[in-house]
Amino acid sequence: MRVLASETYRALLHRHGLRATPLRLATLDLVGSSSRPPSLSDLHAIAPPAAGSRASLGRCLAELSWRGILRRTDLGDHVWRYTLAGVAGGSLAPWFTCTRCEYTALLPAGTVLVRARTLQAAVTQVNLRGLCDPCAKTQHRA
Ligand SMILES: [Zn+2]
Repeated sequence: MRVLASETYRALLHRHGLRATPLRLATLDLVGSSSRPPSLSDLHAIAPPAAGSRASLGRCLAELSWRGILRRTDLGDHVWRYTLAGVAGGSLAPWFTCTRCEYTALLPAGTVLVRARTLQAAVTQVNLRGLCDPCAKTQHRA
C-alpha cells in the first residue's frame, strides 16, 4: 500500500474541512503504512500512546470514513477494515484474502470485471477468498 507524506495527509484533511489533529494524522499514517487493511483492533495495537483510547481511535476512523477520506471494508470476516479512499484503487478494487494464512492483497485493476450493467451500478466492493500461492503449494504437497 502506498504511504503518503504527512503534509499530504494534512492537505487531505483540510480539503475535507477537518483540522489536522495529531490523532487524525496518526490514524491516516497508520492506515496508509499498513501492508493490509487494518481493523480498529490492529490500529489500536500499534498506535502510539498519544493516539488516545480505543474509543477515540474508533470515533476518528468513523469520522474519516464518513467524510470519504477512508474507505471501510469487510473482507469477508465480518471485521471492518480501513483503507485510504482513492489510494486503494477504484470503487471495484478487488481484495484477495487467503482463507488459511489471512494474507490480504489488493489485486491489480482489471483482475475482476463485472460485466452486467445492472450490477456495475450497485457493486461497490469485490472480495476474493481462496489460497495464496504459498498455501496452495503447501496444500498440494500434503
Ligand atoms: Zn495463505
